[in-house]
Amino acid sequence: MLIIAFILGAACVSFAMCQAIRFVDQTLTAQQSICDHCHQHLKWWQLIPIFGYLFQAGKCINCHFPISIAYPIGEFLGGIFFVHLFLFFSVWPAIQFCLLLTWLLILALEDFFTKTVSLKFLLGGGSGVLLIFIDRIFKIHLIQIELWIIICGSLAILSLNNYFGWADTCLIGLFSILFTPVTLAIIILIASCGAFFALKFSNQTILPFIPWLLIGVIIILSLNPLFPLQFSPF
Ligand SMILES: [Zn+2]
Repeated sequence: MLIIAFILGAACVSFAMCQAIRFVDQTLTAQQSICDHCHQHLKWWQLIPIFGYLFQAGKCINCHFPISIAYPIGEFLGGIFFVHLFLFFSVWPAIQFCLLLTWLLILALEDFFTKTVSLKFLLGGGSGVLLIFIDRIFKIHLIQIELWIIICGSLAILSLNNYFGWADTCLIGLFSILFTPVTLAIIILIASCGAFFALKFSNQTILPFIPWLLIGVIIILSLNPLFPLQFSPF
């Protein structure tokens, strides 16, 4: 089971990185995976997570351009994290979080490289995530709905004045359904601290916030069961 979880994690990260590149480079329309540099179609064995990189000795076999080490490292870390999820959660919640993290990773990479996200992918993926987590929606408490209105209302006002991104508001609105109020507050705190220090130590004036939200979710899921995912009011 854990080997399958590792393969699944590595494959999901590999898919997320390829998908994010397509969003970043709009000229890439090929459905089949291609080399970032020479745009040649990749063979099936080149697509195997981690091993594809090792088999090619870190260089494209067509143009010999070095393949970024970020691919195998990201795939390996994804594999390890999915193993962690399957170790600490039962099978269905682990699958739910695996799918949520894959979607978030694509959004985070797109936001990081382009400072924007595709609306179709945000709303389509968000609806998919809501469907996957439908069991949580039925268990939602009144206080969570009240908090949802307060948080989303406040962020929407900030977004209307361009102080905050609409995509970030949508994601936090979604998180307030998926996570308990305390867990959500900690995710936002981690993301805000990360974004604050990144702004302080970089020359950027606009900072992508989704990568920091993703880091917040990863930390929360790593620290489970410190932060219970099921809400029980008082
Ligand atoms: Zn190439």
